[in-house]
Amino acid sequence: DFTVDLPAASRDELGELSAAIQLLADDLHRLQTSRREFLASISHELRTPLTYIKGYSDIVSKNHINDEEREQYIDIIKEETEKLSKLIKDLLDLAKLDQHEFSIQLDEVPLMTMLERVAGKVRPAFQKKQLELVITGSGDIKAVVDPVRLEQVLLNLLDNARKYSHQGGKVKISVVKEDKVHLFIKDEGIGIPKEDLPYIFERLFRVDKSRNREMGGTGLGLSIVKELIEAQGGKINVQSDLQKGTTFELILEGEL
Ligand code: ADP
Repeated sequence: DFTVDLPAASRDELGELSAAIQLLADDLHRLQTSRREFLASISHELRTPLTYIKGYSDIVSKNHINDEEREQYIDIIKEETEKLSKLIKDLLDLAKLDQHEFSIQLDEVPLMTMLERVAGKVRPAFQKKQLELVITGSGDIKAVVDPVRLEQVLLNLLDNARKYSHQGGKVKISVVKEDKVHLFIKDEGIGIPKEDLPYIFERLFRVDKSRNREMGGTGLGLSIVKELIEAQGGKINVQSDLQKGTTFELILEGEL
């Protein structure tokens, strides 16, 4: 029977050390589990559109369907192909972000000009849902950003604002300069439950899987948005009221 007689202080330290090791082991276990879950989810997300594409192209190549049906099935094939390519693009972005292979080129960019250009890109999709898109802010505000990456962020946030808005609603972009530059994207859509707010920037998190399946979401968009904004030295916040709407705020540097 062998015991080491340690002074009380180092017994405490040993206790702390073993607790710390236990925490690390728990972290590692969680990480491995989440990696596995991530892969399982992604495989599912990749397989679902492929199943549709394969199934409908088999049907389309048969002769016994009429033109109307053929057109309808081709539309589905196009939509599913679109989903698949967005998912693959998101995954490639995440991989690059993880490996720090994202080059960020910071520049002082006039925000209003950029917002008008981005708004021009999303307008057709907004019109389809009769959504009003309003931009306010002073024309001379600049922000220190990578214009390509900021555009990607804005397109993503606006696409969400459109997806989760009710037909005929309003989306407002506003820019305010204080110490920093604050850019708000506010919608009057379905909102996000309070208990889900802390998780929406996590990879693959979706508020409600059923509402997202039909919207074509993957739960990757906001995690990419957050990483891109932080890579530019910015911050992102969210505020939301269920059934009333959601506001995302970007906080950016105003000067180099
Ligand atoms: P997705 O591709 O599923 O939209 P995101 O990462 O972009 O994934 O968003 C994560 C979740 O946050 C979404 O599933 C959605 O439920 C919620 N969400 C994001 N933006 C909004 C918004 N403007 N209004 C309501 N819910 C939103």
